[in-house]
This record gives sequence, C-alpha cells and structure tokens, in this order.
Amino acid sequence: MRLILIFTLLAFQSNTADATCGLPHYLGQPKPALAKSNKVTFLTKQLRFSLGMTENNAVSENFALHWGTLPLSEDEVSTMLASAEEALEKFEAMGLPTITGSNEYLINIYVVPTAEDIGGAAGVAWVDSEGYPFMRVNGNLFDTSPGYMEHTIPHELMHLIQLSTNADFNFGSGWLWESTAETATAAVLPEDDFYFAFYGPFAVTPEYPLTSYRFDLADDNPAGSRHYGAGIYFQHLIENENVDELLFRLWSAETIPSSPTDHISSILDEDGLMFDKTVARFAAHQAFYDITNGDELQRRALAYAAATPAYENLSTAFLSSQIGTFFEVTQKTPQRLGYNTIGLEVGVEPRRYLWDGPTGAQATLVVKRFDDITYHPFQESASGAWYADYEFQGDELAMAISVVNLSVVGAARYSIEVAAAGSVPPKSSEPDTSLVVAGGGCNSREETLPSALLLLLILLGLKRGFASNVG
Ligand SMILES: [Zn+2]
Repeated sequence: MRLILIFTLLAFQSNTADATCGLPHYLGQPKPALAKSNKVTFLTKQLRFSLGMTENNAVSENFALHWGTLPLSEDEVSTMLASAEEALEKFEAMGLPTITGSNEYLINIYVVPTAEDIGGAAGVAWVDSEGYPFMRVNGNLFDTSPGYMEHTIPHELMHLIQLSTNADFNFGSGWLWESTAETATAAVLPEDDFYFAFYGPFAVTPEYPLTSYRFDLADDNPAGSRHYGAGIYFQHLIENENVDELLFRLWSAETIPSSPTDHISSILDEDGLMFDKTVARFAAHQAFYDITNGDELQRRALAYAAATPAYENLSTAFLSSQIGTFFEVTQKTPQRLGYNTIGLEVGVEPRRYLWDGPTGAQATLVVKRFDDITYHPFQESASGAWYADYEFQGDELAMAISVVNLSVVGAARYSIEVAAAGSVPPKSSEPDTSLVVAGGGCNSREETLPSALLLLLILLGLKRGFASNVG
C-alpha cells in the first residue's frame, strides 16, 4: 500500500485553464512543446499544478489528485490514486517512455463533476501550458458507471505516455492513440469488467477501415467510437501472432513515424510478419471471437447490437448458404483494411464455395468445432477467383467466410456462390496442397491441408461465371 496524503486547502489561485481539455478537443492543434526533462531522479516528487490548486487535493507516490468541492469519499480518492499507481507500475515494467517531468513532479489528475465538462468523455489528456502532460477525469463515473473509473485512469495514463513522445495526434493517427490506450489498459486489467469496453461499436462496423477515426460519442453512431474497440487488433498481434513487447515497440521509438500503418508494418517486419496478412488473420479470428475473453467479447458485441437499432440484427446476420445460394454483398462492402464475415450453414453434403473477389482481398474459410477453430485462407490469384471444397465431418459447430479488403482503395465487392462439390471442374488438375494455415490462436490449430480430406483449394483460372467489381 502506497501512502496517500489528503490535504485540504483553499484555492489561492483561480482555475484559469480552458474549459475543454483533452485529446479529441485539440484535434488539428499542434501539441504544445513539452517541458525539458532532466536526468535527475528526485526521491520525493514535487507538487506543481497544471490547472491550479483546488479546494481538495491528495497525493500518492507519483500522482496528485485535485477534486475541488466534489463530494468524493476517501475510498474513491484512494481508488483513483491506487489505479494510477498500479497502471504506472505496469507501464514502467513494460519499458514505456517516462511521462515528461514525472521524475521530478507528481503527475496531475483533475476530477471534473460531469462528462459535459470534458466533451462527453470519461477522461481526457493533454499537455499544460508549461509542457507537462496531465489528465482530467469525470468524477461522476463512480455513480453512473461503477468500475469504469479504474478503467479510465490507465487509459488516460497511456495517453500521457503517448503525449510525452514526438508523435502527433491527428485524424490519421487518432485511432492508434485510442486503440493502443485500450490495449494498454487490458494489459493492466486483464480481468476488468470493462475489458475492451468499446468492442461492440467495433464489432458491428467491421467494414470500416481498421484505422478509422471519426470521434463522435453519440450512442447511435458506432463508427464514432469504434477506434477504441480497434485495440482488439493489437491484442490479436500479442496473443495470436506472438508479437513481443508490442506497446513498447510502438511507443518507445526515438521518432515515431507519422504514418501509423508504416510504423506497424516495420515493427511486424522485424518479426517476419506482413501487416496485411496479420489483418486478414485478425479478421478471420473475429468470426468466432477466437481470442482471450472471446465469450465476453461476443456477449458485448451482441448486447451492443441489440441496443442499437440499426445493428439489432447482428446476431442473425449470418447468411443462409443452401446449395445454389449466391451472395454478392453490396450493402456493406469492406473498405480498405475493413472486413465482412459471412456465416455458412453447417450441413451434411459436400459443398463447394466459389469465391470471386478482387486481387488484394483475402477470403478465409473458418470452421469452428468443439475443440478448436481452423482457418483456411483462399489462395490469392491474379483473377481473385477460387473455390474451396468442403466435406462435412459432422462435428462442425459453425462455419464462416471472412473477407478482408487489404489493398483496394475504396470498397471491394466480391461474390460467393455455394455449389455442390465437384460441380465446377478445376482448371488445373494439380491440387494445391501447399497451403498452411498461419496464425494459431488460443484454441485454434495450424493445419496443412491434405489433398482431399477436408478442403481443396484450387486455382480456378481466369473466368468465373459471375462478376467481381472493384468499387
Ligand atoms: Zn483516449
């Protein structure tokens, strides 16, 4: 237990700060210059104020909490400081950058009465006029969302670390800031009730780019908050692609490139991974929530969909796939780095799934059984036309095709036809048995495809009887 001192003082200086502080509000504005950090480590950190002293203040080893006249209980004050200390300890252990000035000064946390005071957010982070990062949080969370304060503080603390780097916050990188703040929070609180709290908005808008950032906290606009839920992609990299020290590698660079996707690509390249392929495997893993706490994420996605009228049919969105069924998904064609998941009916007769999509899209057949989930990517080809034969084994629980638009600018159209196996003669007599399903999640298995046993993926050739378009 770290010592927490509470002191009450009359504010001797008025709070002259802007009414709104925080990342979203400063979009388009340059980040203020950071204070010069010196290398001295102070045994006792000093108190300084970002927005002035307030009536009530408390300090712990590394933080100073200021809550004015809000009726916070001693427990609530302790909870906030303990959350901050726990998160800081974890981030330090991960080797993340030191928050500017925090070797000398306590890190300021200001508590505001309502979300309206900080643009509708639970918390916001910014740099004060002297160049020191600080955060503001909504004290009302204790009443309106019990447990959410403990989630919000690590999230904002990660922003203070990000603010202490050279990285810019703008529409191009806002999703990286927010999504990785959620991944960082999950590292601190893996059992948190609010684990990837915004997974719902992300899950119902998969066709948007992974990198989408459209800040808007309105309840009926999932696209406006999906960027928080996008942190599940980084969780996939950690869990299913075995990328070590990911947050450290993303945020500790001396100079963080202005293109987040270039930055991620170069980090993955060091591990022999291709960014696009990881996105394709990530999308396929989302078909049946194949990731730690997947059951909870599924529950969250379905609950969010049920509560959001435009998305209430998510639970029945899996399409029927009788033989002869032809899909051409035009309503929500995936944009670049977006995806669709199409549910397939589990049956008894052999099936052939005919896929015709643009080059630069990737389709993966996903099969869920009692014990595992297997992934079978359709081989990319010049024409994008492929088929997969599938013979049911009888123990399948569910099947889906995950389609990702990896490189087509705009939205990628594709079509999938369900036929009886053998109804389309292969162009080549040589089955491609070289496919190895990459990845391998917490309960998935890697599978080299034998010639005729489960799945045969054969290049069809140039012409299929149905159209593919690139929009
Ligand atoms: Zn944030």
